[in-house]
Amino acid sequence: MSVQTLPAQAEKQSEVISYDPGTGDEIGRAPLCSTEEVKAAVERARAAQAAWANTSFRERRRIILRARALLLDERDQVAQLISRETGKPVAEALSMEIVPTLDAMHYFAHAAENLLEPQKIDVGQYALMGRSSRLVFKPLGVIGIISPWNFPLATPAQEVVMALMAGNAVVLKPSELTPLIALKIGELFGRAGLPQGLLEIVTGDGSTGAALIDARVDKIMFTGSVATGKRVAEAAAKYLIPVVLELGGKDPMIVLEDADIDIAARGAVWGAFANSGQACASVERCYVQDSIAPKFTERVVAETKALKQGLGSDSAVDVGSMSNERQLQIVSDHVDDAKTRGAQVLTGGCRATNLPGLFYEPTVLTNVDHRMTIMRDETFGPVLPVMTFKTEAEAIELANDSLYGLTASVWTRNIAKGKRIAELIHAGTVMVNEVVYTHGIAQTPWGGIKESGYGRTHGRMGLLELVSAHHIHVNRVPFLPDLWWFRYSPRGARLFNGLARRFTTGSLVQTSLLLPQIVRRLFERR
Ligand code: NAD
Repeated sequence: MSVQTLPAQAEKQSEVISYDPGTGDEIGRAPLCSTEEVKAAVERARAAQAAWANTSFRERRRIILRARALLLDERDQVAQLISRETGKPVAEALSMEIVPTLDAMHYFAHAAENLLEPQKIDVGQYALMGRSSRLVFKPLGVIGIISPWNFPLATPAQEVVMALMAGNAVVLKPSELTPLIALKIGELFGRAGLPQGLLEIVTGDGSTGAALIDARVDKIMFTGSVATGKRVAEAAAKYLIPVVLELGGKDPMIVLEDADIDIAARGAVWGAFANSGQACASVERCYVQDSIAPKFTERVVAETKALKQGLGSDSAVDVGSMSNERQLQIVSDHVDDAKTRGAQVLTGGCRATNLPGLFYEPTVLTNVDHRMTIMRDETFGPVLPVMTFKTEAEAIELANDSLYGLTASVWTRNIAKGKRIAELIHAGTVMVNEVVYTHGIAQTPWGGIKESGYGRTHGRMGLLELVSAHHIHVNRVPFLPDLWWFRYSPRGARLFNGLARRFTTGSLVQTSLLLPQIVRRLFERR
């Protein structure tokens, strides 16, 4: 379906229905795009991309900035839609989705040209032979973006902007739980004057995502769960389609005894409960040094009890509903497993009974350990398990004892120590005295290691995922045959021996000792 023309009335039997998880009310419907519709969308995108690749960065910037101006003008309305479709507070829709998206639009609109400038490569001693190399970056073609429901604007919209600025077309497959926001993204770009076909939105479920891979896009930017990520990588491998996988996390927070306890406690509470804990970078497990554990835990519990939970549309609400029943059930199962194995619930620990929708009370647990699923599997909900440690080495070991490696944080007043420990933690991003938010920084790379995925989005590294690097190599002395060309001879073999011993050291002095042999070889009758 073309963004600009996507009809509201889809065939009755093939729709995805969007609900407000805070109330259970239906808020809209979108087509469940079929394999044929996805294929047609990719073909339209491919047809449009050829001309787009030839536009100047200036022209691309003009359109992105127009879309940005529209988003800025309509931010309240968009924030309401995000809040209704996900259950998150409007405040979070603004601070965690709209602000970073506007920032990334501004950044990539202005910086992409510089970031993708051709680059000279130092070819070492080959330069003395009149050789030079440079990299030029070309768009890949059609980028397929498959996104989840937890940040339905910020996650796909920023990738759309990066892909378009790099000269690609995009086909976006949003989560079946949040199709309306994706359609809104398409509508904003359409009104900003983006040529038809360059941004196609294919709403639907997993089958639509699978069809997008089968339609042979040129790259898949996937954000979602580990299980689906593996399926996507496998399906893409059939066609050798490269994939970036932004998957789940079990992000640790280490609080050392010299940390500012009040600030660390507030950081932990925001890091664990913002977005109802449904962020891939949420604080999923907290390790606090035993000497400060009682005071820290007391502060955490006090902060948690002070949070107001309710419908996202209420501007005084801190914690909204969860986005779907399945996720709420996972949270409930993890907490129950922890309780059965001896965890202590300091606050929360159950579904909120005073609210009608999918609300789980912000929960703080202690007496937890690594046998429990709450410390091993991604919970993706408003739960903060707190465990103690004695030594730095123990904290690092606990943090690294995970299949995941997305983000982590270290809290200390000693920045040098924080940085040293940060380098020992296995994660794509490690923050010192900060949590969660670096996905919102357009300039820095985002992505994980281990089962948190591979590849990067955002920053220069993210932009480079959306282009192919072409190496252009030039010989400026084409009138001389290369030393290693035919014909071979005993003299040639002696020179190759010399090259092996001297040239490969990278030392000009060493190589210059071969000069007489090189000259003889160059003028040898071959
Ligand atoms: P999910 O894996 O269920 O779905 C993600 C997307 O994949 C959806 O659009 C879905 O329709 C699509 N999909 C499902 N099956 C598919 C298939 N076979 N082929 C192609 N596409 C398919 O994830 P979710 O529940 O929507 O999101 C939650 C997960 O996302 C969590 O694990 C979270 O940690 C992760 N996440 C990661 C990041 C990150 O940047 N690392 C950011 C946000 C969310």
